[in-house]
Amino acid sequence: MSNDCPFCGIVAGEIPGRIVHETDDVTAFLDANPLAPGHTLVVPNDHHERLDDLPEKLAREVFAVLHQLTPAVEAAADADGSNVAFNNGSAAGQEVPHLHGHIIPRFDDDGGAPIHVVAGDRPELTEDDLDVIAEDIRNAR
Ligand code: 5GP
Ligand code: ZN
Repeated sequence: MSNDCPFCGIVAGEIPGRIVHETDDVTAFLDANPLAPGHTLVVPNDHHERLDDLPEKLAREVFAVLHQLTPAVEAAADADGSNVAFNNGSAAGQEVPHLHGHIIPRFDDDGGAPIHVVAGDRPELTEDDLDVIAEDIRNAR
């Protein structure tokens, strides 16, 4: 547990949160500043900052909860779809340094945008560039 972490505080019951799912390993609660009704955050109970810090077993549990909760969140919000995403690291917009998956309900014509808009300018990459980056990813696994 990290003392100054709000999500550790919610998991420990020291900070109020609207908890919608709770096990020994994973907790889900409503976002305090929701982008849509039902906006839910899914966190490992232990303090891990990024996806790459998460032990594989815990990663499986976090993703299992996202899989289970997403249809429940959509049903409760009467949503037409959802964005399910992680801001992984400060460069990606992560503000709370305790890993959390967002479930953001979406509605037809809600004025929002697809996840493609979150990155910066699109790079111009050749077929060779794509081959190189794919190979680099395979080698880095
Ligand atoms: P990030 O940018 O780190 O991916 O998103 C952090 C999210 O956590 C934001 O959507 C923000 O509204 C939410 N948040 C920040 N502090 C609290 C809190 O104390 N309680 C709850 N329920 N949500 C919080
Ligand atoms: Zn924490």
